Amino acid sequence: MGRKDDDGDRALYEDSYDEAVDDLLDYHRNACERLSRKWSDPTGKAHAVACPKCRKDAWVRKYGVKRTIMTRFGEVSVLRNYHVCRCGHGFYPRDIEMGFDDDNLSRDVLKQVLDFVVTDTFEASRERLDLHHGIRLSATKLKHVFERKSKPFADCERPCPVVKLPIGTKRAHSPIMIQVDGSMIRHTDGWHETKLMSIQAMGATDRVYLAESLDKDRFEAQLRESPGFATLKKREVFWIADGAPWIWKMKERLCPNAFALLDFYHVLEHGEEAAKQAYGEGSDKASCFMNALTHRLIWKGKEAVFDLVKEHTPHRPRKKVDKHRAESFGKLLAYLESNRERLNYRYFLERGWPIGSGAIESAHKSVLQKRMKLAGMKWSKKNAQRMATLRALRSSVGPTKFTDAILKSIRKAA
Ligand SMILES: [Zn+2]
Repeated sequence: MGRKDDDGDRALYEDSYDEAVDDLLDYHRNACERLSRKWSDPTGKAHAVACPKCRKDAWVRKYGVKRTIMTRFGEVSVLRNYHVCRCGHGFYPRDIEMGFDDDNLSRDVLKQVLDFVVTDTFEASRERLDLHHGIRLSATKLKHVFERKSKPFADCERPCPVVKLPIGTKRAHSPIMIQVDGSMIRHTDGWHETKLMSIQAMGATDRVYLAESLDKDRFEAQLRESPGFATLKKREVFWIADGAPWIWKMKERLCPNAFALLDFYHVLEHGEEAAKQAYGEGSDKASCFMNALTHRLIWKGKEAVFDLVKEHTPHRPRKKVDKHRAESFGKLLAYLESNRERLNYRYFLERGWPIGSGAIESAHKSVLQKRMKLAGMKWSKKNAQRMATLRALRSSVGPTKFTDAILKSIRKAA
């Protein structure tokens, strides 16, 4: 008996829910029809419209040409009149007035689409957009939206960043920390490095990220062109990066007064590599060397570090093993020598500043790798740059302001 009641309740549940869904679908259908009427050109004879090219009168060539816009209520058919001018220019005045999106998405759908495609693969985005929002778009279409919305500003030679550097009046006395590091991303023709820069006031949570995988000059220009860059000269800045020489040349041009530091963990990595080559991985001698290196880097200063490496370098090596050791430590010494002015760890520690780019390394995971380094993923050169640009933008402004920032970037690049 109880079972029968259960079935009855369940049927009631199903029926009432279906009814509610039907109401909602009716509502959506009405919304689409209403939008269709409001967005379409009024029927009846149309007047001439000034040609956007030559300002002369352009008359209707075709009435009611259909365009479909995807909205959160479903697809909306818009009928527009096609005008042609005597100068030869053809156009839809309605499209210009209404500012329809090139990908035929309403603004709220565009926001959802962009949020999905930069956080998940195109195929997963397709499934999830349907599941969460009932929006049915193919994976190819999603990829096209991503490409079309990032291309204008990610591809252009002169970068046009729109995000203001977080160095305004807030925390006016905190030093500004700039960190640069690279991340390997797989392209169709092998692995390539994408550089990521983060700019933030010490202790503040808001950061601006700039990413670049194509060329160094463009990376430099991204910071130079960022709104608020001029303020950087008036502030105390410290700059932490790995040992790539071009990064330091760039730092000299952009922020000559900034305190420079070679990322502590990169030094340790180089030290470990030399010790491993010379003494064998995990050997007592290798770990002994690493302990001494760490200690001297922090407490004794660079001269003591150079002395240590020299002590481990065999002089006039004749035996093969000694030659090998001399070579390993020789490489380390050259690396340290070329970064001689950037080894003042104690100075940084005494000021309470970080000595390693640990923060940017985790940023690499959250900003780039989470979307760009998934299993089996390969990027074309252009799409790698586009996705890195979008991910950096989103991490800088947050998901709610992301689409507006993209549209602003497109306008600025035009
Ligand atoms: Zn014309």
